[in-house]
Amino acid sequence: MTKESYILSDFHIHTPYCGHAHGKIIDYAEKAIQLGMKKICFTDHLGRYYLTPSQKKRYWDWGMNKQNLARYYLELEDVKTTYKDRIEIKSGLEIDYIEGAEDMIMPLIEKYPFDFLLGSIHCLPKFGWKHIANYTEKDMWPIFSEYFKAAKAVVSAGIFNSLAHIDFIWRYAKWPAKKSLAIFQLIEDIVETASSNNVAIEINSNGYLWSQIYTVIGGDPFEILLRNIKKYNVPITVGSDAHKPQYVGKSFKELAHLLKIMGLKQYCTFEKKRKKLEKIP
Ligand SMILES: [Zn+2]
Ligand SMILES: [Zn+2]
Repeated sequence: MTKESYILSDFHIHTPYCGHAHGKIIDYAEKAIQLGMKKICFTDHLGRYYLTPSQKKRYWDWGMNKQNLARYYLELEDVKTTYKDRIEIKSGLEIDYIEGAEDMIMPLIEKYPFDFLLGSIHCLPKFGWKHIANYTEKDMWPIFSEYFKAAKAVVSAGIFNSLAHIDFIWRYAKWPAKKSLAIFQLIEDIVETASSNNVAIEINSNGYLWSQIYTVIGGDPFEILLRNIKKYNVPITVGSDAHKPQYVGKSFKELAHLLKIMGLKQYCTFEKKRKKLEKIP
């Protein structure tokens, strides 16, 4: 039994294994303990080494290679034991969803019994493999529409426990102003699909912070996301996406407050891919 916590559990934390996060794994764990968390999950980026050579046009990649994946898994097993009396540590991965690569992911997942798998989209192979921030087309609608197609595939793939940062697209790419309503409908469709597939949707600190500063024509996509989560009763996970120890649990107090205002009472954590409902503090 997990003791009741006064702060949400952070289920999206990176480590130096991906090559672009800073600090030691134990620094992230210590920060979570300092904040009073009872449970956290590391979810570092899996690299795309498992793709076929033709798929692997890697002019942009950012995750662990095969050797680092093995080291990461084993180090987390050690850290879990070392910290077991102070905080429950879970191990997971953030995996880029690449259409057609689902079968290549499965052997990896079977080899390492991670607690939690986040699926995310940072690039759209159909439009080249670049980071979404690098799309500057005049008409951004095809990019958005392709992104949401991929997001729907994440919640339908039967691989992932939660869809990471659906807000990534609107934080990094210019919102197509004339398409607000169509995008809001796509968000609803993904949430509804997640609900029928019993897949969680991540509420990301960065998405929350973005919505505190910006809006788009027609509404606030983050609020629309939360409203649909309530409407379809979808499980949520919460993540800071920390790439530095000081960002663990970023804005979690404000975020918990907002979630409750929106009528949500529970979020979830995972252990060996099994969902556990937790009370929003
Ligand atoms: Zn990500
Ligand atoms: Zn991340």
